[in-house]
Amino acid sequence: MIASVREQFPILHQEINGHPLVYLDNAATSQKPQVVIDAVKRYYEWENSNVHRGVHTLGSRATDAYEGAREKVARFINAESSEQIIFTRGTTTALNLVASSYARSVCGPGDEIVLTEMEHHSNLIPWQQAALAVGATLKYIPLQPDGSIRVEDVEAIVTERTKVVAIAYVSNVMGIVHPVKQIAEIAHRHGAVVVVDGAQSTPHMKVDVQDLDCDFYALSGHKMCAPTGIGALYGKKALLESMEPIEFGGEMINDVGLYESNWKELPWKFEGGTPIIAGAVGLGAAIDFLEEIGMDAIEQHETQLAAYAMNRMSEIEGITIYGPRERKVGLVTFNLGDVHPHDVATVLDAQGIAIRAGHHCCQPLMRWLKVSSTARASFYLYNTEEDVDRLVSALIQTKEYFGDAT
Ligand code: PMP
Repeated sequence: MIASVREQFPILHQEINGHPLVYLDNAATSQKPQVVIDAVKRYYEWENSNVHRGVHTLGSRATDAYEGAREKVARFINAESSEQIIFTRGTTTALNLVASSYARSVCGPGDEIVLTEMEHHSNLIPWQQAALAVGATLKYIPLQPDGSIRVEDVEAIVTERTKVVAIAYVSNVMGIVHPVKQIAEIAHRHGAVVVVDGAQSTPHMKVDVQDLDCDFYALSGHKMCAPTGIGALYGKKALLESMEPIEFGGEMINDVGLYESNWKELPWKFEGGTPIIAGAVGLGAAIDFLEEIGMDAIEQHETQLAAYAMNRMSEIEGITIYGPRERKVGLVTFNLGDVHPHDVATVLDAQGIAIRAGHHCCQPLMRWLKVSSTARASFYLYNTEEDVDRLVSALIQTKEYFGDAT
């Protein structure tokens, strides 16, 4: 199966610095299959027009394609209806929408927003800004030594003052899957909402927002085979209806007067301006592609690959691997002795292996780990054990190259 999957990703079949490419930076962004590239191309060749306005044929083709993609996103995460899917630029924009609109309207001085120190900056700074604006307080669920969180600590930290609990379903550094369903249950008991950062979960496992009972869920298309610039926010209908838009202009209005205006119904009231139509079409095609392979099969492949990578990488002398040993999502964050992660990534790149090095947009977590940065290899449905083998032998060579520093 894996060979036929790889076949569909043209970018993988090239040499980088004289070596066949091994792409292990999937947590940053995934590669795109031919069907997605073709869907975007076909859209521009046959359907391109602005949506919701054109009375002409192309206008209705573009609108059907755009709204059809919304239906696919809704089905993919099991939303109750497609009106609860707001197209955004990605997870960052989706989380900013909730923090700027919902949080600022429900939080006041002394109210609490609960997070973890592991959050991506996109699920941290919007809450900091909201808290600063309204005088709310940020509280952090403590992390266990392996980076996981305990449900009893969530019980202890969430109070009647808590208005929002915002957490990643899967950490982009530790690969940990947080117990979002239990967290939602605790938050709801205290009258708080749960906002889930789904950037790293949606591409890798079956997501069911109704089963999780989360109030908001954000996702990025580009990490799940779709183009950059498209993502979505899911929200419970009553909450979305109660929220004010944060972007105003064309497309989102119902009636405009000289001094006051009012908005369209969901989901369009949150989509001011010409939307990312081709991106949405690409996201729809990516969802079709992932569903054809099956999210369960993708998850199983990655769990096996992560276990293989963990075993092989932990054999490397002097390596430090961060986070728990068991991984559902294929992602290994590590340091090789004292070699700077940028040096590790540069040496690997010379051998055609793409990994990421840096703080991974998680500076508070880096401080918690007591490092300034780490290296990270992250896998997706097209990665193989051979990719892991190439990574491991390149890391062993890197270690030898830097000698004492490791
Ligand atoms: N949250 C997590 C956990 C992420 O990994 C990322 C992307 N690295 C984001 C949020 C932000 O996603 P985007 O840049 O697509 O908005």
